[in-house]
Amino acid sequence: MKDISCKLLVIGAGPGGYVCAIRAGQLGIDTVIVEEKRPGGTCLNVGCIPSKAVIHAADEFHIATKMAAGQSPLGITASAPAIDLKKTIAWKDGIVGRLTSGVSGLLKKAKVKTVEGRAKFRDGETVEVETETGMQSIRAEHIVIATGSLPVELPNLPFGDKVLSSTEALALTKLPEKIAVIGAGYIGLELGTAFAKLGAHVTIVETLDRILPLYDAELVRPVAKRLGELGIDILLSAKAKGMSGTGALLVEVADGSEQKIEADAILVTVGRKPATEGFGREELVLDMDGKFIRIDPQCRTSMRGIFAIGDVTGEPMLAHRAMAQGEMVAEIVAGHNRSFDKVAIAAVCFTDPEIVSVGLSPDQAKAAGREIRSAQFPFTANGRAMSMADETGFVRVVARADNHLMLGIQAVGHGVSELSAAFGLALEMGARLEDIAGTIHAHPTQGEALQEAALRVLGRELHC
Ligand code: FAD
Repeated sequence: MKDISCKLLVIGAGPGGYVCAIRAGQLGIDTVIVEEKRPGGTCLNVGCIPSKAVIHAADEFHIATKMAAGQSPLGITASAPAIDLKKTIAWKDGIVGRLTSGVSGLLKKAKVKTVEGRAKFRDGETVEVETETGMQSIRAEHIVIATGSLPVELPNLPFGDKVLSSTEALALTKLPEKIAVIGAGYIGLELGTAFAKLGAHVTIVETLDRILPLYDAELVRPVAKRLGELGIDILLSAKAKGMSGTGALLVEVADGSEQKIEADAILVTVGRKPATEGFGREELVLDMDGKFIRIDPQCRTSMRGIFAIGDVTGEPMLAHRAMAQGEMVAEIVAGHNRSFDKVAIAAVCFTDPEIVSVGLSPDQAKAAGREIRSAQFPFTANGRAMSMADETGFVRVVARADNHLMLGIQAVGHGVSELSAAFGLALEMGARLEDIAGTIHAHPTQGEALQEAALRVLGRELHC
């Protein structure tokens, strides 16, 4: 097979890698991307998109179930709803298929060459790819490592049989009656909530003494309440120890005693680890930052010509961070003067209700030595929330006390993920409380709660 020589080689076609390659191609850079599975990476194939599709299906089914039980506040009734999970999963797979072939099309359009197979470094400038038709050698001036992340396995509960990672959980075509979820981070809670809404009995086991430890208690409270309403059992300060002979999950609970939890499926969502092994990374002299690859603000590693982006480079392990890094690296390779200087990266939990956090929470701002002004505006006073029959939650703003510069915006509530764009824009543009308060927000929308929260800090709230 003829060796390939190119200016830019990207390893991994997840959101980080494919965006980098597309942008590089658009900029006229001779680019090759190598992917061992399917374009789109974790996010499109087994992460962001499929999970949100399953969550949406579960929400719809849950609403129909409530209607059938005569619990719809809107006065809608329905007869016993049913769900054909095989069809749901086929629908979800259809969306994944459309998106991943869309990525392939965009790569082609940008004149990026795709090589299918697993890449392995031979040295700092050459990569070998085991393709179906033999070994392909690729030499590049610049190489971007965008190999992503993998689910963390528990040694006492290895994946297989009924112990599932999020990947297998998103492909279930038959709903297990009883599901134990280990880990109350966002992936565990999103999927646990969806399975409960589909009709499974869900138990969540978490070693810490709280759920969603990355978010403050005020934001998490409405989520915890809804989990209770859905009949989800939560065991905090509890450690999964393994499986009993009969297949029950053994859990050491807070008082040190052992509980047996009967489960048809055990979903392990205890985090994700960067994919840094098995492709020759170990043989390169790349500095590490713990388990992640160390990068500078331009995503350069400690080796000349080698960049790293996405989950392999650290927290927050989120698709939109990977994409932003990928776009930036392509421009740097094209000679543009770029650096990763974002004010904030929004984090969203697609739980029920949803949580959005951009920038600093009040506690984080205080811990950073800031004097702040902060206020919340509740959705109970927001007409749009009322008209959607879900008034849970609030929008909260955090600003500097002296000049009112926005430091953070958070929200919890139905559908608030869509507010993340406005929150992110406000922070990135350096908005002040007065800018948000002085912007006309369309009525009736949940976004009005952002304006009202800003007005409230200024002592001028109108609707509360
Ligand atoms: P990845 O998407 O992991 O892609 C890496 C690619 O590299 C893979 O396709 C892999 O096959 C390939 N690869 C690895 N090694 C090699 C090699 N040696 N040769 C060739 N190819 C290789 N993030 C969000 O922002 N929002 C969400 O709502 C969200 N929900 C999620 C839900 C779930 C269930 C999961 C699991 C994740 C979720 N994430 C979410 C996280 C998100 O998926 C990741 O942050 C994102 O995919 C990281 O992108 P990446 O490009 O760094 O890596």
